[in-house]
Amino acid sequence: MKWLDITHGQGHVAKIESQSFVDGEGVRCSLYVSGCPFACKNCYNVVAQNFKYGESFNQDILEEVMEACEPNYISGLSILGGEPFCNVDITLQCVQKFRLRFGKTKSIWVWTGFLFEYLVQDTGERSSLLKHIDILIDGPFINHLYKPNLPYKGSLNQRIIDVQTSLKQQRVCEYIRD
Ligand code: SF4
Repeated sequence: MKWLDITHGQGHVAKIESQSFVDGEGVRCSLYVSGCPFACKNCYNVVAQNFKYGESFNQDILEEVMEACEPNYISGLSILGGEPFCNVDITLQCVQKFRLRFGKTKSIWVWTGFLFEYLVQDTGERSSLLKHIDILIDGPFINHLYKPNLPYKGSLNQRIIDVQTSLKQQRVCEYIRD
């Protein structure tokens, strides 16, 4: 299997932050899944490149994440990694349960090393995941394109994409531009 085709990961979660102030707009619950094949130089979370890092995901963890999203002051769920699109067993369950529980009253932000144009061509579970996302920060971290204090991203190549508008208009619509 090519590394880009890894979709199901090993079912591990690196970290949950029930109140994050930096992973998107507002105060958010952040879920970090384990395993990323991109191996970017100076990755912000090297330990979570390992698909077996952290603990096994289970229904208790899913409920813990949903409960952390419950308070009114929580704007939504952020999913980072690791690579969310290489861990769809976890991430798809989370976004489906999140939408059932909160509908569109709260938002879903996801960080990925894949490009939107690649994900949008998928016809399987990655596409199902993409359709639930409000904001996608796409593309690998590229060290020589690093710039400090960029909003919600580390390097200039990455984009902050309004997924729902992009899907409707069939073109990339950026939510925040540099
Ligand atoms: S895509 Fe993100 S998590 Fe994966 S190696 Fe690159 S910076 Fe790290």
